Amino acid sequence: SLLRCSSSRCARRGPCGGPIPGGVALRIGIFGAAEDVQCKAVAREAAALGADTLCIEPEAFERGLPLSLLDGQGFYLGEPVDDIRGFYLRAIPAPYAPTVERDGELVLYEDWFTTFMHTRERASYFVAWLLQLAHQGVTLVNGPHAASVMQYKPFQLHVLRSLGARVPRTLISNDPAAIRAFHARVKDVIYKPIMGGAITRVLDSEALERLEDVTASPVIFQERAPGEDLRIMLVGEEIVSCVAIETPAQHLDFRADPIYSRGGASYREVRLPESIQRFCREAARACGLTFAGIDIKHQGDAWVFLELNSSPIYLDVELKLGHPISRAIAQRVVEGTRG
Ligand code: ADP
Ligand code: MG
Ligand code: MG
Repeated sequence: SLLRCSSSRCARRGPCGGPIPGGVALRIGIFGAAEDVQCKAVAREAAALGADTLCIEPEAFERGLPLSLLDGQGFYLGEPVDDIRGFYLRAIPAPYAPTVERDGELVLYEDWFTTFMHTRERASYFVAWLLQLAHQGVTLVNGPHAASVMQYKPFQLHVLRSLGARVPRTLISNDPAAIRAFHARVKDVIYKPIMGGAITRVLDSEALERLEDVTASPVIFQERAPGEDLRIMLVGEEIVSCVAIETPAQHLDFRADPIYSRGGASYREVRLPESIQRFCREAARACGLTFAGIDIKHQGDAWVFLELNSSPIYLDVELKLGHPISRAIAQRVVEGTRG
């Protein structure tokens, strides 16, 4: 019954009254590299559910692999892919030009304009394709909301705040006067980028002296939330995993610990109160995420939300604690294809 009707005119997504001779095996898609460990893990779980997986490489255009949309019909490597009714979205191309390292410095390509234009076109193709798939009722984990490489922490904080969830007092600004006033009021302040890509730091007296540096772009300034770092993995309505991240030394940002980057972090299962679980579900829904990696700082009765990640790294937790995150993703995608 994992077969679906092979007739292109058959609108039914599920099996049409049982296996059909000549029917094609069910398959799911992954937007992500076939070599990515999380893509591999989800594909393995999909296989256990009877589905094949096609990976759509984020670097397909860069590698010159053939992709087409013909009158709205998707083709990948020359084959039609419109039979695929469910996708896990791990990664698509970024809409900005990558940097390269030369003599120990990060530089743009010499023909940066060509690269820049290629990059935008590639990203636009993927985002428009995902919007089309969502419009056609295809199951996407996650959908176009998450397809942008932009991160929307300020919006997520708004959503959480409006639900009544606790978030740190926050200023997002490039205005030194506003930042000084915020610091005078809140006192214990950290700062971090909106898009990520840097470790969170304390706004100390030395940093306060360099505030003229921030006028060119906004920065997140936030009341420091004490306690341990929790990571919640939510798939659909289900909290598949909730752990405290334990690193030997105390750091403001756990990723600053070299043990963490060497894969040596350990995790402890944590049980979330019902009200906090509800905030997770409702915030993910409002942010358009069916799969989310949610960061919380926890101490005593305080559960302070930091962000929701749309394509979180999770395999380390899965392997160390046996939390079935890949299986939950695969299940959701495969069930989605059955209509
Ligand atoms: P990223 O997208 O870079 O993961 P986060 O908002 O999750 O951004 O911040 C990274 C880490 O920095 C958090 O997991 C936490 O350890 C620390 N951190 C961020 N904001 C705060 C805060 N307001 N108070 C205390 N620690 C914070
Ligand atoms: Mg985070
Ligand atoms: Mg993040």
